[in-house]
Amino acid sequence: MKRTSILFGFLFLIGLRANAHSQEAAASSESKLKVILLGTAGGPTANAQRLGIGTLVLAGTEKLLFDCGRSITTGMVRLGINPADVTKVFVTHLHSDHVVSLPELYLFPWAQGRSVPLQVWGPEGTRAMMRHLQEAFEFDIHIRRDVDEKFSSEGIKVIATDIHQGVVYDANGVKVTAFYVDHGPVKPAFGYRVDYQGHSVVMSGDTKPSDNLVKYSQGIDVLIHEVARPKDDPALIGPPDELLPGSRQTRGQAKIIADHCRSRTRVPESETKARTVLTR
Ligand SMILES: [Zn+2]
Repeated sequence: MKRTSILFGFLFLIGLRANAHSQEAAASSESKLKVILLGTAGGPTANAQRLGIGTLVLAGTEKLLFDCGRSITTGMVRLGINPADVTKVFVTHLHSDHVVSLPELYLFPWAQGRSVPLQVWGPEGTRAMMRHLQEAFEFDIHIRRDVDEKFSSEGIKVIATDIHQGVVYDANGVKVTAFYVDHGPVKPAFGYRVDYQGHSVVMSGDTKPSDNLVKYSQGIDVLIHEVARPKDDPALIGPPDELLPGSRQTRGQAKIIADHCRSRTRVPESETKARTVLTR
C-alpha cells in the first residue's frame, strides 16, 4: 500500500446480514464460520490504536490467518487465542504492512510450544522470503533448538508455497481459493475466499476495482474489503447526494469513508463494530 497515495485503509464490511452476537448464539459449533478482524490498519505506519492487517478465520478445527501485519500475534493473545495454534498463513501480497509480523509468528509461538511447521501460502516470492527469514534468525534458532531450551525441531520448520489463482487449500471441510486482484504494480496480488459448511467469506486484499473480486465474491456471506481514499480528493467537493462519476456511490457516502480514513487517533464507531467477532 503506497503511503503517498492514501492515509490508511480501514475495513469496510459489506453483506453482513444479521447481528453477529445473535448469530453466534444460534449457530452450532460445528457449522460456525468465524471471522476475527485482528488488525485493520493498512500502510507501513505505526498506530497506537489499531494493529496492522490480519484476519483470522475459524472454521471447525481450522484456524487460518490471512495476512500478518504489525503486532498480529499480540492481537491473538488479547482475544485469548494461542498463536501456537495458528500454523497456517495465507498472504495476499508481499507489501510489508501485510507480512511484517511473520518473524514473530514464526519464532515466538515456537518457543511457546508449537511442534508443527509453520505453513505459509502467498504470491511468488513467499518461499524466498521465508527462506531468508530462517537464515536471518539462524543464530537464535540454533541456540534454542540445539543447545539451550531444545525446542521442537519440527516446530521451527517452514513449509512455504508460491501460489497461483485457484484452490490452494482444501482440508477438514474448509476450502480456500486464491484469486488475482488489481494492486497496480504489485503483481501478483491475491484475494482469498473461504468456504465452509455452506458459508463463505472473502478477503479482498489491497485492490483497485476488480472484476475478478466481484466474480469470486458471488453468493458470499461477508466481504472484507480494505478501502482508502486520497487526501483532499477534489471529487468530494460538491453536493453530497450526487453520484460520483462512474460509481454507484454518492459524494456523501464517499466523504464518510474518507473521514474514517483520516482518523489516526480515534476509533470510529464503524470500526469498533467491525472489530467484533463476526459469526456466520
Ligand atoms: Zn499493498
